[in-house]
Amino acid sequence: MVYRSPPVVSTLGQTSRVNAPLCTIVWFRRDLRVADHPALSAAADRGDVVALFVLDPALLVKRHHTSTERLTFLRSGLEALDGELRARGISLTVRSGDPRLVISDLAREVGADQVHITREISGFGRGRDDAVVEALAGQGAALVEFGGDLVVEPLDLPGSSGAGYQVFTPFYRAWQEHPLPPHDPGPVMLTGPALVSDGLGALPTGESLIPAGPAAAREKLAEFVRSGAVEKYGARRNSVAEVGTSQISPYLRFGMCTGAQIGRALRVGGELPSGRGSFWRQVAWREFFHHLAARRPDVLRQSLREDLRDIQWNEDDDGFVAWKAGRTGYPIVDAAMRQLLETGWMHNRTRMVVASFLVKDLLIDWRRGETHFMQHLLDGDPASNNGGWQWVAGTGADAAPYFRVFNPTLQGQKFDPDGTYVRRYVAELASVPTKRIHEPWLMTDLEQMDSSCRIGTDYPAPIVDHRERRAEVLDRYRAAREVAGAPESGDSEVRESG
Ligand code: FAD
Repeated sequence: MVYRSPPVVSTLGQTSRVNAPLCTIVWFRRDLRVADHPALSAAADRGDVVALFVLDPALLVKRHHTSTERLTFLRSGLEALDGELRARGISLTVRSGDPRLVISDLAREVGADQVHITREISGFGRGRDDAVVEALAGQGAALVEFGGDLVVEPLDLPGSSGAGYQVFTPFYRAWQEHPLPPHDPGPVMLTGPALVSDGLGALPTGESLIPAGPAAAREKLAEFVRSGAVEKYGARRNSVAEVGTSQISPYLRFGMCTGAQIGRALRVGGELPSGRGSFWRQVAWREFFHHLAARRPDVLRQSLREDLRDIQWNEDDDGFVAWKAGRTGYPIVDAAMRQLLETGWMHNRTRMVVASFLVKDLLIDWRRGETHFMQHLLDGDPASNNGGWQWVAGTGADAAPYFRVFNPTLQGQKFDPDGTYVRRYVAELASVPTKRIHEPWLMTDLEQMDSSCRIGTDYPAPIVDHRERRAEVLDRYRAAREVAGAPESGDSEVRESG
């Protein structure tokens, strides 16, 4: 499917009710906020508003939506949105079912001629929206798309060929030239009919791992800027033990915060000081991957690089289970995988390390890791997650060269030199001496006894030999390229990323 222009708005519904106030449904999805929400502001300008969230049972059981933690965060975010709407005079209506039916039924019920949405970019989302367009057309109503999630819409960055960008640097250059949209505080007051709501009972109860909602997002961002952490971002963003990044990603994922709001907090406009500049550049990576997924929805299913579509992967279910549970015998990998299970978040550096380990050390298909991440990350987002996995696997847009293999021991020594991160998440290694914390298998018997950590008993021995595997993975990638008829690339040497 090609990224398309917004559908033409039908006015049939309007002409049939000349004197009645117009009623617009705002269908909230990944845009759980009131400010800087063009779809909501445009609806409020027209008259009555019905704020709707559709709980689609089919979606709740989909493999990418099974994270209890993310659903709990979503529930909490919807409650926060309801609070923001109530403060303005209406409440959130929740209806369960297939969006096509729910929305066309509701449009009929309230006499709405337009349903406003914030534009979706994933193939799945766009397919669903196309189906809703059709369902509404039968009754003379229209689905109207607005921007607001991304700083720059994909259609506004066509690149020189018109097909968008597959390399980050020229994308970033062009992206930066677009001015930030001005702040819109959102409607002060909203009016609309009182409706029956199905409520959020289908979502898990319990406390969200982190507070949800735009107010929590604003506070997180403000603190990151106010405390000066943003100025040190460039220097600290790779240190895994002391979190030097913003941890704003779950909020961006559900639109409790937007890229433009971040840009304004950073005072983007002229030359940025270096910490702010590197932070803003990372926000651009999110946009890069979203633009890519909008133009190439197939990346969410297969390698972007055609010559790397037929790599022979290992099934290795035991290895996969050990990786997921954080029991590979490589401390930095295990700490990160346990951090994911415990907190629903993982540092970007360790996301790269564990992804590389799965793909390049266990030779397991990156799509299995991508799914596991989606099942546990609070910020689990198809475009960014896929972009990250394909970047590490070397199969995606502007990815790391496929022959770059992260060495888990060197990565640990470099980015967690005293082992604080490892000790925080891998209790068995808490008393291991620092000089052995990233290679505990080298401990003598005495060291193992002193640190109450018997390798093979209390903590696993490495499940694979990193040196052997990095040679094997290169052979597999080369073989795939040969089968695809790709030219020699001169990549005879395995590069290690230390
Ligand atoms: P910060 O460093 O504070 O960056 C600010 C924001 O910039 C982030 O919140 C995020 O929106 C964006 N950003 C930063 N780095 C990247 C990046 N490399 N790619 C895309 N956007 C970036 N990010 C997700 O939001 N959802 C995912 O599902 C996801 N899966 C990933 C999977 C892998 C294998 C890898 C390597 C990266 C993945 N990322 C994903 C990107 C990145 O790891 C997270 O966005 C980041 O760690 C979130 O923490 P933060 O908010 O503190 O980031």
